[in-house]
Amino acid sequence: MDKVGETTLEISLSALSYNYRYLKSTLSTETKFLAVVKAFAYGSDMVAVATKLEALGVDYFAVAYVKEGILLRKAGITSPILVLHPQETNFEQLIASCLEPSLYSPRILKSFLATAKAHKQTNYPIHLKFNTGLNRLGFWENDVAHIVKTLGTEKALRITSVFSHLAASEDVQEKAFSLGQIKTFTAICESLKSALGYMPIRHMLNTSGIINYPQAQFDMVRSGIGLYGFGNDKEIDSKLRPVATLKTIISQLHKIEPGETVGYNRAYAANGYRTTATLPIGHADGIGRQYGNGKTKVVIHGQPAPIIGNVCMDMIMVDVTHIPCKEGDEVLVFGAGQSAETFADNGNSISYELLTAISQRVKRVILE
Ligand SMILES: *Cc1c(COP(=O)(O)O)cnc(C)c1O
Repeated sequence: MDKVGETTLEISLSALSYNYRYLKSTLSTETKFLAVVKAFAYGSDMVAVATKLEALGVDYFAVAYVKEGILLRKAGITSPILVLHPQETNFEQLIASCLEPSLYSPRILKSFLATAKAHKQTNYPIHLKFNTGLNRLGFWENDVAHIVKTLGTEKALRITSVFSHLAASEDVQEKAFSLGQIKTFTAICESLKSALGYMPIRHMLNTSGIINYPQAQFDMVRSGIGLYGFGNDKEIDSKLRPVATLKTIISQLHKIEPGETVGYNRAYAANGYRTTATLPIGHADGIGRQYGNGKTKVVIHGQPAPIIGNVCMDMIMVDVTHIPCKEGDEVLVFGAGQSAETFADNGNSISYELLTAISQRVKRVILE
């Protein structure tokens, strides 16, 4: 493989396909698959990922915000796109790009209905989000009558799907709570059905839900992190492949004498002769300060090199005393060889946060 030459995030579309097929294989054949590609497809490349998944036959996409959906439309994605958390101010753009809003409160429903009517829409697809215990976004169970009454008989909007979100799908200790959420959601779906005369598409499970609550697939599942190679569980992680690999290079080597310090605020003090390597990646690239001061390591020629001292905006320094290496050599931050989940965990974080934090100034390379 060619050396990277600069900090690079490699995105493996074959790993993505593999994960998609693996997740699909755990579902019943009728279950639809919604791919969550918000936040630049979890920090990778939203357009490349969505284009690949569309070719693989994914049924639906979801993004968090209207802006993200517009980017997908501009790139030629024609599949339906659910916008999980739209804001009133973007409703006209949302309609102009044929994006489908999640409506989650009486206020947002009323406002979207008015916009759709003003634009002479009929049967515009909407998705109703119900709160069953996460207490983040969503209508309450007893809002069903109000919703159906508000929609009236004019048919400006059509409820395409109804959904909810588990609060602790990865946590087996919270099984009773999750089962309670599933039960509440089932009741909501039934009361909607009797009020509407039809059953919208029902969906509740994220990646860990797919793994832990196969009985609650309803009509569709929503997977994000699993597509990118992680499942909040070591065993699941071992069945998936990481899509993103973050690499960088050694810019400079330094010989440090005992008592000398390295980096801002002299946070690292050498207690012997040390060789340090300076790498062109810092907190502005998404490697936050919590990863510094020995908390995490990068991998150079297969060997661990701990990050020493404080993480700078554009650089980190690592200890390579025991690693034969030279300036220009390649460095693995995470990917195959050092899991992003492990790297994140050592900095008291999670794969989701680490992946989505990789900033837009990091070069992306798409591997087929
Ligand atoms: C982000 C998100 C998902 C994806 O969750 P994963 O754990 O990444 O699979 C699913 N549903 C909703 C509502 C989300 O916000």
